[in-house]
Amino acid sequence: MNPYRILDRKRCGETLSEEEILSLVRGAVDGSWSEAQLAAFLMAVAIQGFDSEETRALTLGMLESGEQWDLASEIPTLGDKHSTGGVGDKVSLPLSPILAACGQPVVMLTGRGLGHTGGTADKLEAIDGLELGLDRKRSLELLDSLGMAIGIATEGLAPADRRLYAIRDQTGTVSSIPLITGSILSKKLATGAAGLVFDVKTGNGAILSDYDEARRLAQNLVDISAALGRRASALLTDMSQPLGDWVGHSCEVRETVECLSGEGPDNLMEVVYRLGEELGRLTGSGITRQDMESSVASGKARELFERWVVAQGGTVESLSSTCSDLAPREVVVTARQSGVLAAVANRRLGLLVAEAGGGRVGPEGTIDFGVSFRYTARLGQSLERGDEIGRIYLRDTDEALISAFEGCFEIADAASAPELVSERILPSLP
Ligand code: URA
Repeated sequence: MNPYRILDRKRCGETLSEEEILSLVRGAVDGSWSEAQLAAFLMAVAIQGFDSEETRALTLGMLESGEQWDLASEIPTLGDKHSTGGVGDKVSLPLSPILAACGQPVVMLTGRGLGHTGGTADKLEAIDGLELGLDRKRSLELLDSLGMAIGIATEGLAPADRRLYAIRDQTGTVSSIPLITGSILSKKLATGAAGLVFDVKTGNGAILSDYDEARRLAQNLVDISAALGRRASALLTDMSQPLGDWVGHSCEVRETVECLSGEGPDNLMEVVYRLGEELGRLTGSGITRQDMESSVASGKARELFERWVVAQGGTVESLSSTCSDLAPREVVVTARQSGVLAAVANRRLGLLVAEAGGGRVGPEGTIDFGVSFRYTARLGQSLERGDEIGRIYLRDTDEALISAFEGCFEIADAASAPELVSERILPSLP
């Protein structure tokens, strides 16, 4: 099929047929569609949209572009959770060992940072030696011995997403509901967990900052998963401020160890436990918050995390050395006036961390794992002029960058904290 004609039709807002969408997916995988054509396609979809049939065709095409592991055929209670990403969102890291320590097996294929959001795969690579390339056999071995496997989509899995994801990151087409749906589900459905919980972020640090759009995405993810035979639900969770205390790769690994040692920040642990309970409901393992809290208090979850790091190529020493690698130039960000912390320009904050070196800028960009932001205040908190809001950790002094960080926080006379978990989304058709 002629890519030009398909592009032209979508540019004019016409509905594409399943054959046309499959032709584009094939073209992304076999290279017959050029980078320019794929970029144009992504922009046309981002602007003109896809209806539910087109979204379903894209998702299935992307899923079928690669291997399908069907892991639930071997482990019927297998669960998976996926987040749409955010600033300081490291939920997958503590959640996986906590669930595994409670007997709930979990597999997660993680992604790279996208736009202003950090990626779990990048965070894990801050652990020296950790190997994220998993295939079906290795995933099953890890699930058998530890009850958890975390990796990154390898060559064979959802290859269409690998190509499109990288182009989306460069073309301002990240925040399109059908493109996000196809991207997430092609990976999630390919591993084939029985229960899937989605953490769909809302607020200005989320991929979709508009609440109704985030809600639509959540409903799409849940409905398409359910239509394809998976038990699925979603929680809408707040991303209008960083989640937890740290934004930055090494420090988010250290924060994970703190979570697993019973010292995790309240907002982060709340999201971890709520998603864990939700997954327990979906897979039928019935894990409760109390079970998860006990696995942390007893040290079982932390021990399991360390065993998993070793099993995937790291060492316990590499884990602790990762945790001490903090950029040396510390700058305290303080309140410019007295009042209440009313807003955080969270997307901007994520982009500034990346710009300072703590995220990938451009496809070949490298990440400085030690560049970080520590968030010590919270929305709705009363502050006196000069009180600390957070700390930036940089390699160099860059006054313009520091001033941009300071400009991310708004203080007003009154403000309240947003609800952390605002809604639970179930399939529209039971
Ligand atoms: N996570 C993904 O895997 N893809 C997206 O598009 C957004 C979040």
